[in-house]
Amino acid sequence: MSGRVVVVGAGHAAGTFAALLRQAGYDGELVLVGAERHLPYQRPPLSKTFLAEPATQWLREAPFYVENSITVRLHETITLIDRVAHTVETSLGQVLTYDALVLATGARPRMLDVPGCDLPGVLSLRTIEDAAALRDGLAGAAGLAVVGGGYVGLEVAAVARSGGVPVTVLEREDRVLARVASPALSGILAAHHRGRGTDVRTGADVVAFEGDADGVRRIRLADGEAVDAGTVVVGVGAIPCDELASRSGLLCRGGVVVDGAARTSDDAIWALGDVTVRPRHGGGEPMRFESIPSATEQARQAVASIMGKPSVEPEVPWFWSDQFDLKLKIAGVVAAPYDTVLRGEPATGSFALFHHHGGRLVAVEAANANADFMAGRRLLASNRPVDADRLGDPTVPLRELALA
Ligand SMILES: Cc1cc2nc3c(=O)[nH]c(=O)nc-3n(C[C@H](O)[C@H](O)[C@H](O)COP(=O)(O)OP(=O)(O)OC[C@H]3O[C@@H](n4cnc5c(N)ncnc54)[C@H](O)[C@@H]3O)c2cc1C
Repeated sequence: MSGRVVVVGAGHAAGTFAALLRQAGYDGELVLVGAERHLPYQRPPLSKTFLAEPATQWLREAPFYVENSITVRLHETITLIDRVAHTVETSLGQVLTYDALVLATGARPRMLDVPGCDLPGVLSLRTIEDAAALRDGLAGAAGLAVVGGGYVGLEVAAVARSGGVPVTVLEREDRVLARVASPALSGILAAHHRGRGTDVRTGADVVAFEGDADGVRRIRLADGEAVDAGTVVVGVGAIPCDELASRSGLLCRGGVVVDGAARTSDDAIWALGDVTVRPRHGGGEPMRFESIPSATEQARQAVASIMGKPSVEPEVPWFWSDQFDLKLKIAGVVAAPYDTVLRGEPATGSFALFHHHGGRLVAVEAANANADFMAGRRLLASNRPVDADRLGDPTVPLRELALA
């Protein structure tokens, strides 16, 4: 294919897609238009190491884009898509024609719509600038309150606590990671954080931030209790940036709906990454995956589709998280009903939770247990029947089960 491919967004999915498209031999024009001021960068370190170490991890260094004739227009947005004329309009009023259009607009942090949510010191975490503000906020802070016990919130809590900052985590549900992890993992992680001095509170419904022009001072909970806080990070999920797509009449259902080739309801438009609602490996309701492996897989799917190459084998969804000394890896979708088998010993910091239903594995959640994680991932990919007794028997090597 030649002509021009325009990518809306210059984040992880966009940067990965552009590199793979060139690698696949595309020799037409390739233009990325990104709202941020930066070349594509890694977001995972923002909540893991960036707070301690202000070094941006670029997806690729600047010369890569020049050498590969990839035009990156930064600090500019696409405001309009004309699907009939095959053009997009930028915030600078320029019109670009496209042969293929790729939407990689990502997601933005969900904010809590409560009084005081715009007070100084009430922060969220998505960009380099957010991470810098958080680092500055933590520098002189008497304490950090994290609203939302999701993965990003818990990672920030772990980094701050490791730096000696008093940390409180406020989670509205009755357990941390309620939406995304098994109750077993939630319990283990909450205990791990508490064991390192973090005040993890569940059932804590934030109704207001209180303070003055100098900043937030405390958080008010629904039961009337006040929690002191000098710096607050709100990590209550992300909203897909699908407004441009829905304004253009593309099928959206809580994100841009795509197929297994990352194609939208318009044959000339693909969508990748956090903005998409995508099919899942093994079937089930399409859903949004906010993870690097998912964005990368979709970048490969779109490249194959645009270049007319064979479609890409669907992958088992997975992602990772670092909390204190725990290197967590999760594969599959933890959705009830399921039974759980534990291998390893949480107290040692190395364990794997295997969730199975109907004689098949549905998900694996592992900490510092890479071999178990890999075996679980292979089992998920093959969808082979599993014997729960053997799965839970530490004398049976998992490798044997995965290869059986
Ligand atoms: C703090 C943090 C930690 C994370 N840690 C992990 C992890 O450990 N493991 C993991 O697998 N995943 C992790 N993730 C998730 C992962 O970073 C995302 O899944 C990934 O960045 C998605 O890439 P994307 O390109 O879809 O979105 P983004 O990287 O967000 O890029 C989208 C870009 O599009 C721009 N944009 C939006 N609208 C327009 C427009 N109209 N015109 C032009 N530009 C536009 C946005 O400004 C943004 O720069 C983490 C995310 C965060 C925020």
